[in-house]
Amino acid sequence: MDFALNDEQKMMIDTLRRFIAEELRPLEDRLENDGHIDRDTATTIHEKAKALGLYALNMPAELGGGGLSNLDRILCEEQFGHTTDYLIRRAFGNVYEPLLHCRGEQVARWLEPAVAGKRTCAIAITEPGAGSDAAGIRTHAKKTGTGWVLNGGKHFISDGEWSDFFLVSAKTGEKEISMFMVDKGLAGFSVGKDQKMMGIRGTPHLELFFDNVQLEDAALLGERGQGFKLAMGALNVVRLAQVGARAVGKATHVLELMTAYANDRQQFGQRIGDFQMVQQMLADSVIEINAARWMVYHAAWMLDQGFDAREQIAMVKVHAAETLGRVVDRAVQVFGGMGFCKELPIERYYRDARIYRIFDGTSEIHRGVIAKSVIKKGAALFDVHR
Ligand SMILES: Cc1cc2nc3c(=O)[nH]c(=O)nc-3n(C[C@H](O)[C@H](O)[C@H](O)COP(=O)(O)OP(=O)(O)OC[C@H]3O[C@@H](n4cnc5c(N)ncnc54)[C@H](O)[C@@H]3O)c2cc1C
Repeated sequence: MDFALNDEQKMMIDTLRRFIAEELRPLEDRLENDGHIDRDTATTIHEKAKALGLYALNMPAELGGGGLSNLDRILCEEQFGHTTDYLIRRAFGNVYEPLLHCRGEQVARWLEPAVAGKRTCAIAITEPGAGSDAAGIRTHAKKTGTGWVLNGGKHFISDGEWSDFFLVSAKTGEKEISMFMVDKGLAGFSVGKDQKMMGIRGTPHLELFFDNVQLEDAALLGERGQGFKLAMGALNVVRLAQVGARAVGKATHVLELMTAYANDRQQFGQRIGDFQMVQQMLADSVIEINAARWMVYHAAWMLDQGFDAREQIAMVKVHAAETLGRVVDRAVQVFGGMGFCKELPIERYYRDARIYRIFDGTSEIHRGVIAKSVIKKGAALFDVHR
């Protein structure tokens, strides 16, 4: 087993580290205070990232994306975790994998502009009545002679305000779900309120309403009835990359701050890092972050080898998200009153971390997936003889 990173990987990580430290981190306070950054600044960071070849890293190179393996993508996503969701979206993009199912005219209309960063896309699965039970949606599309008529609504749709089109899951039969590409601005498609959240300031989360929206046949992504599979397949990679790897990156960043503070802050005439109880918080954080990191890398490696990594990714989703939660909680403790005070970013990291246990499948749902698999097939432990 070779755990070493190659020179290209190291260079990619260094480039991202520098870009985030120099271009994005200085914007974080403004974003937190104002709740948004202006379009010009967003365009500038997007163009700078694109010029460095850092946009749409998860998309194939022949389409203009990064063409990265899963493992290389994970290494980048871990670095993304060092900044905030909104800035990641603006600088590096958030192009959803199901778009790779575009065929014929769909490629030029939706896929290529998304990879080029000319059109932004969001994914719209959740409804007020259907969250964890993503198959329980009520939004439906009815076939007509010339296309489809879409009715229903979604909520909590991340980046909805910035998005030019949405990947929308809709019932196309009693037990059939399909996915459609729905352009903003179509008659009957309206956007509701921005649902304010406790963290990840800047990213809007919108309600969407579809009232007899006329869709062309070309709006159907993949095959009819394939929508659930497309959505779940996409979320599997998203969980590993945008939750697992980013949680590890975020926890690492918080640990760096916590360690520096423990070395610097003096009480009772000595560094607080000399108190064993503070040391334990640091030690537990290092242990847990390392375990989560190797789980993330291993799941990415499995995907690259063509293995089915669903159970491993469910384990990553639970462990990385919960590790992040524990690490930021300890960080607040180590920083004492300053951890709770808005003058430092620690309280923001604490709020931002909470969503990791909820979106892209809650910890309970993933524990359920893992438990069912253990009972049915035995534990999905790493098998060196495979
Ligand atoms: C900030 C944010 C961004 C989001 N972005 C998007 C987006 O871009 N696109 C999108 O489509 N959705 C998005 N979502 C929705 C998100 O994926 C859902 O909130 C999540 O899947 C949980 O669904 P729910 O909120 O309806 O909770 P529920 O499903 O109602 O769950 C409530 C509680 O019941 C538990 N529970 C439910 N079922 C079970 C079960 N079978 N076994 C054990 N416990 C169970 C859950 O674990 C949870 O604790 C976003 C949500 C938030 C908050």
